[in-house]
Amino acid sequence: NRRFVLNQRPKGEPDENTLRLETEKAPETGKGEMLLRTVYLSLDPYMRGRMSDAKSYAAPVEIGQVMVGGTVSRVVTSDVEGFAPGDWVLGFTGWQDYAVSDGTMMRNLGAAPTKPSWALGVLGMPGFTAWSGLGEIGNPQPGETVVVAGATGPVGGTVGQIAKIRGARAVGIAGGPEKCRHAVEVLGFDACVDYKAGDFEAQLEKATPDGIDVYFENVGGKVLDAVAPRLNTAARVPVCGLISQYNATALPDGPDRMGWLMGLILRQRLTMRGFIVFDDFGHLYGDFAREMTGWVEEGRIAYREEVIEGLEQAPEAFVGLLKGEAFGKRVIQVGPE
Ligand code: NDP
Repeated sequence: NRRFVLNQRPKGEPDENTLRLETEKAPETGKGEMLLRTVYLSLDPYMRGRMSDAKSYAAPVEIGQVMVGGTVSRVVTSDVEGFAPGDWVLGFTGWQDYAVSDGTMMRNLGAAPTKPSWALGVLGMPGFTAWSGLGEIGNPQPGETVVVAGATGPVGGTVGQIAKIRGARAVGIAGGPEKCRHAVEVLGFDACVDYKAGDFEAQLEKATPDGIDVYFENVGGKVLDAVAPRLNTAARVPVCGLISQYNATALPDGPDRMGWLMGLILRQRLTMRGFIVFDDFGHLYGDFAREMTGWVEEGRIAYREEVIEGLEQAPEAFVGLLKGEAFGKRVIQVGPE
């Protein structure tokens, strides 16, 4: 069993000393347990938080512990009711080849799911994040303008498409012309603005002539700076993530703009609400799964995935994910289907 354990807490960007690859013999199962073989490992921005011991909503990974992560696995042997050898299982077994489970918190995807890895993206946690954050906090109305960054990622791409289904105008923000093209041509955004372009603010203004009613916050930083002055009265801001800051070791230099932001919230009567998807909206998961499965089957939601071969590639692929190198949902293929 190969596994990545946390070797050292990173300062800033994770490096080659952050994780350590260990090899041990495959784990053995006992009564009431099953052996799972990892096929797909999800890479997600929240993993940066788990590497750190700064105060957060979830406990950090301890030094020497297997790095956590969502996985899609196959059952090798089973003494757990409802799980048979060959079944596909969505779980949280981390960065390793094999894991033992008693079935707790495991979702059986059946013997032959159409796209097993999609359970790590549009049909799982990131899709649920988009669906619940937009639906419960953003609540877009027909004709309103919804803006989201990371527009080709699993959360942002889904946010834009749900906004369209609800009759709103969807404006994406993404890094580079190729991703912007994909957002418009494949995902169906009405417009997409490249935040790396020199005239980003002017482009955003052009793409949001009626201002912004819902800003689904995924990134923070300069994107938030450009969006905030364009928020309309009574705009809603689901605060989902701040990826531009995850590797930061200190607050940026510059004037203290807290007073400016509070003034904006007051005058524009903004609603900004943070959420942690399963803690806040876990009770809605069944509704999400039904609705999203329907949309995907009807071809109303497109989804792009980037599969990288080999568990050993995971650390580098993760660092790249935080820098915007992924084009679509990044998953690691740990073993054959
Ligand atoms: P993505 O796969 O979309 O990856 C993140 C994207 O963020 C990158 O592709 C990049 O987009 C963009 N990005 C990175 N750095 C910057 C930067 N400095 N400025 C602007 N954009 C940047 O991630 P996910 O879809 O998985 O997650 C999106 C967000 O949702 C994250 O912030 C994540 O932490 C959050 N999240 C929150 C949850 C919650 O419960 N609150 C649950 C799940 C996710 P580009 O390539 O276009 O540059």
